[in-house]
This record gives sequence, structure tokens and C-alpha cells, in this order.
Amino acid sequence: MNIISNEELMNKAKSIIKPHEVKHGFVASDCGCALVTNEGNVYLGVSIDTCSSMGFCAEHSAIAAMITGGEYKIKKIVAVLEDGMVLPPCGRCREFMYQIDGDNLESDVIIGDNKVVKLRELLPHTWDENL
Ligand SMILES: [Zn+2]
Repeated sequence: MNIISNEELMNKAKSIIKPHEVKHGFVASDCGCALVTNEGNVYLGVSIDTCSSMGFCAEHSAIAAMITGGEYKIKKIVAVLEDGMVLPPCGRCREFMYQIDGDNLESDVIIGDNKVVKLRELLPHTWDENL
């Protein structure tokens, strides 16, 4: 399989960013995420930030799109801001990727320009490792 390059994935994540102010000065769509699955399909999502912590990260949106497409295994994932800066996933998104499918501990996570780590490295001890 011809896997999409890191640069292409970062460009796809950036291409969907369209910042839009919602109530109380919060902003939707100022961070974009692109992920490619083990099947080679690309899914995209943007962040939605709101007051009262009802929003969610771009990774969350992209993972929802992936599941809507019937897939669960992430090969590679990245989130970027409008200026192209890469944002490593927050703690919740690291756990979310793991909860969706334990095999995602082997997902490649782009955490900076030319910097890729496995999710396992970002989440070295899962909460259920002794269960
Ligand atoms: Zn997050």
C-alpha cells in the first residue's frame, strides 16, 4: 500500500481549517486533524471550542468520521493549526485513540516537523494494563 506522506497528511489537516467565532468568543475550526487508517483511507476533522467544556478536539472529530466510515485502526495521525504548527494530541485524545482500538498504540503520531512517535510512547502505561 502506498501510504500518504507526513507532509501530505499535514496539508490535508491544514486545508480544512476555517476559524469561526462562536458564542462568547470561542472559536470553532481553528485546528484540523487528518488521519490515515490501516486500510489507507484518510479522514478529517476540526476542533470545536465552546464554553462549559462542551467542545472537542480535531482528533475527536476525525476519529468520529473514521468510525462513521466503519474503521477503527489508525495508521498515522496529525493535528495542525492554521499556520501549520503541529499540535501533539492532548491526554484525552491519546486515551481516546487507545479506547477506540488497542492496536492504535502502534499508530504513528506526528508531534512536530519530522518528529513521529508511536502512541505507545505518548501513553506508556494504560490504565487497564493490569486488568
Ligand atoms: Zn485532544
